Amino acid sequence: MEQIITCINCPVGCRMTVSLNETGEVVSVSGNTCARGEKYAHQECTLPLRMVTAVIPVANSDVPLSVKTAQPVPKKLIFAVMEELKKVQVAAPVALGQVILPDVCGTGVSVIATRPLL
Ligand code: SF4
Repeated sequence: MEQIITCINCPVGCRMTVSLNETGEVVSVSGNTCARGEKYAHQECTLPLRMVTAVIPVANSDVPLSVKTAQPVPKKLIFAVMEELKKVQVAAPVALGQVILPDVCGTGVSVIATRPLL
């Protein structure tokens, strides 16, 4: 089986062809211009990861708080992360980078504030 994916590691956006065997293992990658593309192809075709960003309400402020995962999490968990974020109660003040939700969905990754809120 072949998958066509676009590398998102830099603005060049190489279009790559990834060949997978019957068990889903990557057999070959072509179309990448550098090694980062091959690494990305392996990751994307075996365990795709994504940063998750969101905006959540703040109990004592009219201004919502923008948050993101501190590292990428498995793509299949994006909706579960969003559901967890719906349950979070946060109040100002919030510092830039403050952990809002540790170990979201058992990933070991924290959700952090992307801006301070006084
Ligand atoms: S393969 Fe290399 S050059 Fe091509 S988009 Fe990815 S990082 Fe950029």
